[in-house]
Amino acid sequence: MAKTKQSKAASVPLSSLLRVPSGPVSMADFDPAATPGFPGRDKDDAPAALESLTSELSDLQERLYAHGRSDAEHARSVLVVLQGMDTSGKGGVIRHAIGLVDPQGVQLKSFKAPTAEERAQHYLWRIRKALPSGGMIGIFDRSHYEDVLVVRVESLVPESEWSRRYDELNAFEAEVAASGTTIVKCMLNVSFEEQLARLKARLDDPTKYWKYNPGDLDARAKWPAYMEAYAAALERCNTDIAPWYVIPADRKWYRNWAVAELLRETLAGLDVDWPKADFDVAAEKVRLAAAG
Ligand code: AMP
Ligand code: MG
Repeated sequence: MAKTKQSKAASVPLSSLLRVPSGPVSMADFDPAATPGFPGRDKDDAPAALESLTSELSDLQERLYAHGRSDAEHARSVLVVLQGMDTSGKGGVIRHAIGLVDPQGVQLKSFKAPTAEERAQHYLWRIRKALPSGGMIGIFDRSHYEDVLVVRVESLVPESEWSRRYDELNAFEAEVAASGTTIVKCMLNVSFEEQLARLKARLDDPTKYWKYNPGDLDARAKWPAYMEAYAAALERCNTDIAPWYVIPADRKWYRNWAVAELLRETLAGLDVDWPKADFDVAAEKVRLAAAG
């Protein structure tokens, strides 16, 4: 990847290009096949684009981790929330973008339909338990947003209940941010047509059967209701401390690069320094030399 291309693209941060604007949101306003900010021409340039992020990403992640280890009281952490319709590529992003950093610094949690134990609690109970600890990058594969997405579309609780949740989510995220966690929310935006192609591919390939869930077709049948629910979540929970980004997801190579770059920008923005030695470096050098 040519250096100049990278620095040119970096002049407008990807976070500004993908941030959901404030005001009314309609999913029709977002192009799932777009590639804003990509520092290359097309898919052929994608491996190099991703590769060029790797060393900075691992360096930044290690700093965050080291800082968390050395100063637990002021430890920072990052929470990446991944939401999207089936086949939008939450798993692919975790493998190809998050996979660029040391797995020891990553806390991954996938949220499925709540268990009986979880259902007996407030819906944020299981979310709080999964928040990243100091120095860690937390990844939510689905999240508290399911409680205003599938729950709203499927009327799993009455409207009077889910409609209160947007404010509750904002308050919750404000609390999480205040405790030192930087929140990055990514909606992986796959088109209706591309989802069909991906579901077909799953049915045509025995090595992909495991990814296919007959229930996915039920959600697909309610696509407009899901888009409305996404738009509401993106509109009502798009605060500066917990912003929403819409990641065009029809091109897997762009999607993976975009999330990796957003993570890089986020980590760089934390401006975390390597911890200072809490011992006398010169004296230790002398001791080591003496120890031979
Ligand atoms: P997957 O991510 O494909 O493994 O699917 C997980 C399933 O769990 C999806 O169908 C989600 O809609 C469902 N799910 C996740 N969170 C909730 C929730 N809070 N309430 C109901 N269903 C949920
Ligand atoms: Mg699925």
